[in-house]
Amino acid sequence: MQDTSAGAASAIRLIYVKVFGVIAFLLVTTVAVTAEMIPLPRSRPVGIPGDPSTINAETAVSPCRSRLAEIADFKPLPSITGPGDCIAADVVALDAVLLPDRHRIVLSPAATLRCPMAEAVTHWIRADVAPTIAALGKSLRGLETLDSFDCRRRNGVTDAKISEHGRANALDVSAFKLANGAAIGLTDASVAESLREKLRQSACSRFSTVLGNGADSYHDSHVHLDLLERSNHYRICQWDVLDVAETAALAAKKAAAAAASNPAVVNVSDIPLPRPRPVVLSDRSRHPSVRLREAGRQTLFSLFAPLLKGVPR
Ligand SMILES: [Zn+2]
Repeated sequence: MQDTSAGAASAIRLIYVKVFGVIAFLLVTTVAVTAEMIPLPRSRPVGIPGDPSTINAETAVSPCRSRLAEIADFKPLPSITGPGDCIAADVVALDAVLLPDRHRIVLSPAATLRCPMAEAVTHWIRADVAPTIAALGKSLRGLETLDSFDCRRRNGVTDAKISEHGRANALDVSAFKLANGAAIGLTDASVAESLREKLRQSACSRFSTVLGNGADSYHDSHVHLDLLERSNHYRICQWDVLDVAETAALAAKKAAAAAASNPAVVNVSDIPLPRPRPVVLSDRSRHPSVRLREAGRQTLFSLFAPLLKGVPR
């Protein structure tokens, strides 16, 4: 009996040993697997504390923004990171230009621009546009804008190059607003040609691309300004200061081209008649040399008029 009970006890001990062995094995493997699943901390980046490259670009104040803060009202915006090539850093929403006498020239609407472009526009308004208008006894108070940042291709043509608007490097301006409520349209033939010519020259000296009347049909009603950098600092200045007759001829040519391409849509009677040339804002006819030439022509005509009777004119 004793042998039988002793054999049974050793069998039970053996079972205990095996069970503990299995449990111990399971515990060890579970701990090992769990340890593998816990992610290790990321290695510390190699960088010098305080290195400017590690500072968030959105929170850093660029030298351009520091300069602009003295002469304009603007809001800092995040960098533009796409889609595609629509990329721009150091972007601001330019709300107003501050003149040296602290008058605010408000942009309507505010323009989303790279800081260097916003700075170029601000200098143009402060140093060129406002003084030119002030010399006429008027006060500049606003800027009517069209496109600033717009992620698109040039002139909206699908396979064209990316527009500078897509890089927040361009601004379209349609008019300047005066304190008396009047507007000076940059491509408006009724605005004095001498004023538009001064604005044209100053814009072309500050921006690498200036497109207005005469550039193409996309720029008949506004002037495009940008700071595209080309090789050899090549610049494009295509803004023709047209008089009333030239503007009417351009409109007629445009309407005729549209009618030719789609005769069902455009009717010849839709072509607008030219607006009468205003007397006060006209420069050419007031110039003494022009008046002299015209007087001479009248005299000669009156001399030869009798001989011209019956000749078709
Ligand atoms: Zn444009």
